[in-house]
Amino acid sequence: MLSILAASASLLAVVPAHAADLSATAAALRDKALADPTAWDVAESLTTEIGPRPTGSPAMERARDWGVAKLKALGFTNVKVEAFEAPSWLRGAESAEVVSPYPQKLHILGLGLSAPTPKGGLEAEVALFKSLDELKAQPPGALKGKIAVVTERMVRTQDGSGYGAINAARTAGASEASKRGAVGYLVRSLSTDDTRLPHTGGMRPWGEVAPIPAAALSSPDAELLENMVARGQPVRVRLAMASTSTDKAPAWNVSGEIRGSEAPDEVIVIGGHLDSWDPGTGAVDDAAGIAITTAAARLIGELPKHPRRTIRVVMFGAEEQGGAGPAYAAAHKDEIGKIVLVGESDEGAGVVWKVSLPKGSADHPAMQAFASALPPLKTFIEDAPSRFGGSDVFPMAAAGAPVVDLHQDASRYFDLHHSADDTLDKIDKGELAQNVAVWTAFLYTVADSDIDFRALAAEAK
Ligand code: ZN
Ligand code: ZN
Repeated sequence: MLSILAASASLLAVVPAHAADLSATAAALRDKALADPTAWDVAESLTTEIGPRPTGSPAMERARDWGVAKLKALGFTNVKVEAFEAPSWLRGAESAEVVSPYPQKLHILGLGLSAPTPKGGLEAEVALFKSLDELKAQPPGALKGKIAVVTERMVRTQDGSGYGAINAARTAGASEASKRGAVGYLVRSLSTDDTRLPHTGGMRPWGEVAPIPAAALSSPDAELLENMVARGQPVRVRLAMASTSTDKAPAWNVSGEIRGSEAPDEVIVIGGHLDSWDPGTGAVDDAAGIAITTAAARLIGELPKHPRRTIRVVMFGAEEQGGAGPAYAAAHKDEIGKIVLVGESDEGAGVVWKVSLPKGSADHPAMQAFASALPPLKTFIEDAPSRFGGSDVFPMAAAGAPVVDLHQDASRYFDLHHSADDTLDKIDKGELAQNVAVWTAFLYTVADSDIDFRALAAEAK
């Protein structure tokens, strides 16, 4: 008995009182988050009141004002709009059809930075490849006058790696086709669904390569073309695509803060992206991320006393077509040493299934307190350190800011991503709340401690 008392007394002695408080408050915040409707309300509001919001569109301007009003209404202070210029490609009328040998319509969506076709469209024979590598094996001039088609299939994975594996077919395929003389480019959608909805997305800048019309085919349409080509006759396709684009559209990063009570200059920067592609209402990409991070920070802001450090939520204003992350990092370069950590929610609305922390930090009492809140949320901290953070915060990470990766289950994300099916009804309220709970517990333990991720990473080397 005595020895048990002695043992527990010495255990208590090594656990600082504050660490126990951190754990208790993190657990209480977690439970509150699981029952809190704010994230759903924010996602519903953005998708209903604004809808699709590509960079450079009038809707994006309304989204900026929506962001300011929402942050103020939810109790954030120091609400700011930071203007910058970003590339914008906006879709016009689009159509595609097989002219011969089996005339029928095809379902396409132009890709960001696609060239328009000449007025009245263009017609050409297709050259079909089962992978981008097959196309790249063609010599210069081999695709002269053709519409190149790549029909590589995306594999469904929990970690989203199926997307990265064939991403170049969308982002670089049209350039590779143009280099070889093609007059147009069609790619099977980077998607895991079997609907007839195409999935759009961005392309790398053309650089020195001549821009050509480029579009995504729905998965069934890609297979239809494969079946036609397999019959051996030339397949001719007509494409008609209109669009407008500029390198210098007005864009905005919108931010608000839960100011720290003791060290307000030490800032945790998190967020999601406010812009979206145009076919859906940008629900899972990325109203969900805006909603999750805003709701998590707000819950912490409701505490009787704010935590030590400031939590800043940024609604990044140009992710899909690029520009927001570099603009934010450039505007905040003098602050970078004070940025404690950065992170972004931009992987849909599925649950957080694992967490990667900055190198060397997992044993720190603050991260132990965070870990203690996780079991009911069915997620875990993996051994591998965080690496990326998200495309909008990565430029800050590259400038030295520590990052966190809250990995979401992406099994279903690419059924919806960048398609007309990216709508609010696809978000599960319980899964959304799980995200808020993980973010809330994490943010609170970082904000109300003095954990120094840079120093821990340096020690871990
Ligand atoms: Zn996104
Ligand atoms: Zn996206």
